[in-house]
Amino acid sequence: MSKITIAIDGFSSTGKSTVAKQIAKHLGYVYVDSGAMYRAITLYAIREGIISKANFDEKALVAHLTKIDVSFTFNSHLGYGEVYLNGINVEQDIRTLEVSGFVSKVAAISQVRSKLVAIQKQLGIHKGVVMDGRDIGTVVFPKAELKLFMIASAEKRASRRFKELIDRGDKITYDAVLKNVTERDYIDTHREDSPLVKAADAIEIDNSEMSIQEQLDHILGLIDVVLGKLHET
Ligand code: C5P
Repeated sequence: MSKITIAIDGFSSTGKSTVAKQIAKHLGYVYVDSGAMYRAITLYAIREGIISKANFDEKALVAHLTKIDVSFTFNSHLGYGEVYLNGINVEQDIRTLEVSGFVSKVAAISQVRSKLVAIQKQLGIHKGVVMDGRDIGTVVFPKAELKLFMIASAEKRASRRFKELIDRGDKITYDAVLKNVTERDYIDTHREDSPLVKAADAIEIDNSEMSIQEQLDHILGLIDVVLGKLHET
């Protein structure tokens, strides 16, 4: 059966990765969390003291890029690839509010984007990939057979992310999470290089009032239509 490329874009915390993992598992495709790659570079910059609240040294970060290796290693227990920074698993370390606070500024740097987009294109070269992010349907895979654009209200998104962080033991407030989500949306939609926009041929899904199962069923229906059309041709 022919394999397709599925691009899932949208605002922060719209549940892209949850549904992307489910779809990848269902189809036996590879799941790639492109946001994790931007987060890994951000984590590197924080650890190296290149970025902090007091100082954001873009030049130094660009100079360090050749020393930063971002990759994925499949975790058979989880069923998807976890992100590695210079050979070390950083899947948990990249999910803090500190990393979230800087990541959109890091992701606005063109040299960071071109480094990561090249890796992302390579990961999808054989199709059979579900990738989520902000520019997947517009820049990384403009020819993807199925493009989804996820939206939900800022409050819904913040409360979902807040619950996730609290469940893993982080000490944060709902207001701090809401502030971060809205700030990231603003930077992601206003940056010059590859801003977050809905691709002209993307299907918008507002999941504010959808359960995870309803969303999955809806998307699997869309995939069936695409695969059906492919087989007709
Ligand atoms: O998906 P996630 O929320 O983990 O992404 C973190 C950040 O990485 C986003 O807010 C955005 O600034 C950046 N990003 C991006 N392009 C992508 C994926 C993520 O700019 N394809």
